[in-house]
Amino acid sequence: MTTPELDLVRRRRQLLMDRSVSGRVATTLPPLDVPVQRLPSEELLRRDLQLPEVTEGELVRYFAHLSQLNFSVDTNFYPLGSCTMKYNPKLHDEVASLPGLSQIHPRQPDSTLQGALKLMYQLQSYLAEITGMAGVSLAPLAGAHGELAGMLMARAYHLERGDTRRSTVLVPDSAHGTNPASAAMAGFEVVTVPSDRRGNMDLEALKSMISDRLAAIMITMPNTLGLFEPDIAKICQMVYEVGGIVYGDGANMNALLGRAKLGELGFDVVHTNLHKTFSTPHGGGGPGAGPVCVSSRLVPYLPAPVVERGNGGEGEEYHLVAPEKTIGKIAAFHGAFGVLVRAYTYIRLLGESGLRQASEDAVINANYILSQLKGDYHLPYDRPCMHEVVFSANKQKANGVRALDIAKRLIDYGIHPPTMYFPLIVEEALMIEPTETESKETLDYFIHAMKTIAQEAEGSPQLLKSAPHNTPNTRLDEARAARQPDLRWKQS
Ligand SMILES: *Cc1c(COP(=O)(O)O)cnc(C)c1O
Repeated sequence: MTTPELDLVRRRRQLLMDRSVSGRVATTLPPLDVPVQRLPSEELLRRDLQLPEVTEGELVRYFAHLSQLNFSVDTNFYPLGSCTMKYNPKLHDEVASLPGLSQIHPRQPDSTLQGALKLMYQLQSYLAEITGMAGVSLAPLAGAHGELAGMLMARAYHLERGDTRRSTVLVPDSAHGTNPASAAMAGFEVVTVPSDRRGNMDLEALKSMISDRLAAIMITMPNTLGLFEPDIAKICQMVYEVGGIVYGDGANMNALLGRAKLGELGFDVVHTNLHKTFSTPHGGGGPGAGPVCVSSRLVPYLPAPVVERGNGGEGEEYHLVAPEKTIGKIAAFHGAFGVLVRAYTYIRLLGESGLRQASEDAVINANYILSQLKGDYHLPYDRPCMHEVVFSANKQKANGVRALDIAKRLIDYGIHPPTMYFPLIVEEALMIEPTETESKETLDYFIHAMKTIAQEAEGSPQLLKSAPHNTPNTRLDEARAARQPDLRWKQS
């Protein structure tokens, strides 16, 4: 590039303050239509307030440029395992912003909210159908919140029956960290179930842990290795026989839609993450929803409110009720209503056959990646996967290259890093979830990038250790950056 062009590029990257030229303004104010007021006395005025002085055009370019530094599903491939970063159709946002859905108030009388309540009622029915459960509450605001609701229901269920000795909850060692945390928050003692060499729950170990002190077991299906537990029906039966509750972490339903119903396999309670499987944009900590779906024995304990359909004078009528033995309210008003609208739209848009197709494509895509990369990366559990595949960077570790370095190098190829170092039972884990919304060309590009990186790890490991090379910042202290963000411009 010529020098003037380079100057332009450099200027785009400059901080706003450094672009400041005295006297420039970015605002156009209308003529004053109120009486002129005098400024406060001199000593109250701040003289050290340094604000950038730029034109409106400069300001727009600056922020537009900043916005492009954000990585998103809308800009590129985002194979973050266990998070289901699928493409979220824009139609969902449009529907959620319809005035009849976005400009209602939760304190309006139910009689004026019939359309919104009907939508919630139908979403409850769809989720009950998808999970094979008898009842649903849409109240929880996240996956972990759904887990907590589930654990509180399990506790209420046992206590209600005078069964006060049930103090333990079993959680496999492959589980998402929120599982043991939720069980502990509900007052239970967590006992870890080891996995066996195939990546399943160790049945012998499990047998020895099952007793009449068991309150519940929390199972992720497919598990966080992306594997289907072949003995699941047997495990549910074993827990059921001692009077325990089987909790299903259904945060990742992408492999199961229209294929398997956890209720039919023997689960008592399942939470779903609407902000993963059911297509609400997430990743920046935006709103989510983690509805809980339960078998008939737990329906009376569901968190309030639940939408019920009755028959009023003028036909069907929807209202909010608190189930008979409810664990109470766990969120304000109706839950994350906008997220519920998006999930409803997604399910209606795809329909039964579309949902089934989505899970088929999600599983095929993950297995395609598995088959193409297993020669280059260690595959700790060599068997077909469900919606995600977990590799290990153990092979590359011999050259001093770690999972982190591979993930960072992917950024140079325009791809978001996969989930790393989780599940904890896989050394140097790289957990990849392509989702159903990616084309074969995108998957092939990813595979090509991963293969190239495997070669780079052999020939030029330093290239990986210093990656990424094309971002404004490279290796941050990520924990500190998140906990003590330094967002202020300071004069250097
Ligand atoms: C994402 C996830 C959760 C937690 O969901 P949040 O909405 O982030 O609280 C729980 N379990 C699994 C398996 C997950 O992938």
